Amino acid sequence: MSTKKVYLFPEGSKDQKNLLGGKGANLAEMTNAGLPVPAGFTITTEACLDYYRDGELLSDVLMEQVYTALDQLEQQTQKQFGNDVNPLLVSVRSGSVFSMPGMMDTILNLGLNDKTVVGLANLTRNPRFAYDSYRRFIQMFSNVVLGIDHYFFEEVIDGLKEKRGVSEDTALSAEDWQEVIGRYLEIVQTKTNAPFPQDPKVQLSQAIEAVFRSWNNARAKVYRKINKIPDDLGTAVNVQLMVFGNLGDDSGTGVAFTRNPSTGEKELYGEFLINAQGEDVVAGVRTPKPIADLKEQMPSIYKKFVELSSLLEVHYGDMQDIEFTVERGKLYILQTRSGKRTAQAAVKIAVDLVSEGKISKEEALLRIDPDQMDQMLHPRIDPNVTLQVIAKGLPASPGAASGSVIFDADEAEKMTEKGQKVILVRPETTPEDIHGILAAQGILTSRGGMTSHAAVVARGMGKACICGCEQLKIDLRNELVVIGNLTIAKGDHITIDGSSGQVIQGTVPLIDPNLSTEFEQLLLWADEVRRLKVRANADNPVDAKKAREFGAEGIGLCRTEHMFMEPDRVPIVQQMILADNEEEQQSALSKLLPMQKEDFKGIFAAMDGLPVNIRLLDPPLHEFLPNMEDLVVELTKMQYENTNTQESVTTEALLKKVRALHEFNPMLGHRGCRLGMTNPEIYQMQVEALFLAVVESKQAGITVSPEVMIPLVGHVQELKALRRMVIAVGEKIQEETGVSFDYTIGTMIEIPRAALTAEEIAEQADFFSFGTNDLTQTTFGFSRDDAEGKFLHTYVDQKVLPENPFIVLDQAGVGSLIKMATVAGRKKKEGLKTGVCGEHGGEKNSIQFFHDTGLDYVSCSAFRVPIARLSAAQAQLNNSVKKN
Ligand code: ADP
Ligand code: MG
Ligand code: MG
Repeated sequence: MSTKKVYLFPEGSKDQKNLLGGKGANLAEMTNAGLPVPAGFTITTEACLDYYRDGELLSDVLMEQVYTALDQLEQQTQKQFGNDVNPLLVSVRSGSVFSMPGMMDTILNLGLNDKTVVGLANLTRNPRFAYDSYRRFIQMFSNVVLGIDHYFFEEVIDGLKEKRGVSEDTALSAEDWQEVIGRYLEIVQTKTNAPFPQDPKVQLSQAIEAVFRSWNNARAKVYRKINKIPDDLGTAVNVQLMVFGNLGDDSGTGVAFTRNPSTGEKELYGEFLINAQGEDVVAGVRTPKPIADLKEQMPSIYKKFVELSSLLEVHYGDMQDIEFTVERGKLYILQTRSGKRTAQAAVKIAVDLVSEGKISKEEALLRIDPDQMDQMLHPRIDPNVTLQVIAKGLPASPGAASGSVIFDADEAEKMTEKGQKVILVRPETTPEDIHGILAAQGILTSRGGMTSHAAVVARGMGKACICGCEQLKIDLRNELVVIGNLTIAKGDHITIDGSSGQVIQGTVPLIDPNLSTEFEQLLLWADEVRRLKVRANADNPVDAKKAREFGAEGIGLCRTEHMFMEPDRVPIVQQMILADNEEEQQSALSKLLPMQKEDFKGIFAAMDGLPVNIRLLDPPLHEFLPNMEDLVVELTKMQYENTNTQESVTTEALLKKVRALHEFNPMLGHRGCRLGMTNPEIYQMQVEALFLAVVESKQAGITVSPEVMIPLVGHVQELKALRRMVIAVGEKIQEETGVSFDYTIGTMIEIPRAALTAEEIAEQADFFSFGTNDLTQTTFGFSRDDAEGKFLHTYVDQKVLPENPFIVLDQAGVGSLIKMATVAGRKKKEGLKTGVCGEHGGEKNSIQFFHDTGLDYVSCSAFRVPIARLSAAQAQLNNSVKKN
């Protein structure tokens, strides 16, 4: 740490954001570039950290440096702090490393007191202005430093305006403001038992302290949490000569963006007020005018501002958000920073800046936050609308949807066929609801977590979904939802926002996602740069087609169980599971085979020329059977009513089977390759269907490259046995059809033992695909739904874990296993193909890790493919930046 804690503006530069804060660094940069910036100095973020370290005390060393800088400011401005004739007035402004607009405090007009205000009145020959400035200062200082609520001061002004019969502050005279000031000083005396500080040096040191303290005010803390800004950075303080926009009609103040922050259009976008101080524009006391009006009201100022703003944009190579003030016909720039913008604007601006020759393609790629892209890929709520939020659940699948509430999947389907938009509301969803999910605009459940069926399916479909919304009391019998004292009936309209988890009453206008030409352009640049391939997880031809449109280079995971979950197939699957003898079972399997074959053909057609990875059945069989508790209830009812004995016999038999298949912990139970080992006929049927589809597709002129994937392998012997089975079926089909074809056989790595014995496993595998969802569950020993529903948020809040490991890959644990398995696998088999098919495959930080680990591809849901393409490019670029 340096002993220098105070920098005059000309001593800093834009590269010193860490030390001077964003605002200070940019004020310095603009000063040195010759822009009209009022003189001043910056107290460093280090001084703020000292302040906290010293038990909230300003050190003498610091104040000495502050007073030295103040002397220099006096010389530069030819004004004196506390002087009655020519007083120096300053603003004391917060400014942290990352911009936190409006979160911390700023005090204007500091240096005014009962005497200097007279000097200011004489000097400007404008007593009204001088007293207005003083009352603003007292109010701001009292609020920020002394903690007195604005309300007490506003009350005084409102009372006086009423007495005078005027509605605008501007209608009050100098004498009125003097009266207000008198009352203000009394308020301070009563509330603090001390007079308002008249000594400008005392005002200054107290203001500096207050700005330091505002780093830790409640809203700043919340803002940092939302935006993942570290709590230990501290804020800088800028002390700057005041310029006045409230000196009359030749003065004013405003804010402007160099481009439209919502669309990205290249146009000056902003607002201003004549005869006002900076905070008036944002605080909404008066309605500002569009910046275009400035062209008529102050043509030469407008011209100058346009020049300066484009200069700033070129200088920073990015869209700027600029504060300005006009004092008696002279323009001053008070702040510039990279402007916050929507995803759509971010993309358009970056691509436009490249075509204008202001930044390189690489810079454009690095500038876009992949997380923000999500906004562009789903319909979303119009941000300009006020919402009636009635409940909040887990944001399971992003996007927004409106429709009427329906509680039953069949009904959802029927209503949709009639052209209605519906939201399917269920305590939870099961495979049997899939058609309802497909039909509905969105899904809302009161139980279940982020991997609940509804969530997984909805994400795959790019459909809005909120899960685990426990405030909902769903009464299926009466078809009602009760939320507190609000009741929503079937047919009522609601909107769900799957990005925030908000349930909203009524219909909210939605805006379509738009893959603008700029977005497509940016993604093509990403493709030129990235090394990682990007595939999609897709289970049917429709999703496969969509994935390809979004740029997927193949399918990384086709979950065949989803083919079993189609409503017309569930009875056949149940027949297969419940079969008493081999014959019955074969009959069910032979009905399923052609269906599955057609699905595969559809997917191969959509992915003509690209690899398709097919995973054999993964979930436990009881997932395809009715719920045990429901059956018990049904049976009891039947027995009680003593009706239809034949039906109750069937139900009893079903219940027996369901009981037999019941598991204590299905996640670690009889599923994946374990099912393949004990019930080989199911896998055999699937592989047969797959290879027949390969043959028929080839005959239809389609280029197919299938990869057969065995799930949940933990021991090489499992893979060895199942590999043998696949090869046997492959040989049989080639022989029977006379058509030869190529395929590979590999495994998911989703059990730690598989990663630990990767070298052995590689001997039997042509590829590894890391199933990072299950690998995270099995490595941590967390069941995701239980963890997310019960304790994971506490872990993240208390910083036990930096992030939810189901969203951002845990590099130290799960990542180590991936790295280790990749190295070991490739030791056995040089160039072993490796990929990722968990949700992490579409998350930017995880993608950086997969890139660094040397994997070949990531696979994610179709709607995240563009995000993955961009993230993969950034991963590559970040590394080359690091190397330079
Ligand atoms: P924030 O970070 O919340 O925007 P600022 O420190 O930028 O806070 O200041 C709040 C308002 O006061 C802005 O409109 C700014 O332009 C204005 N302002 C700050 N310092 C001065 C100054 N020296 N002269 C005139 N206006 C100022
Ligand atoms: Mg500002
Ligand atoms: Mg798995």
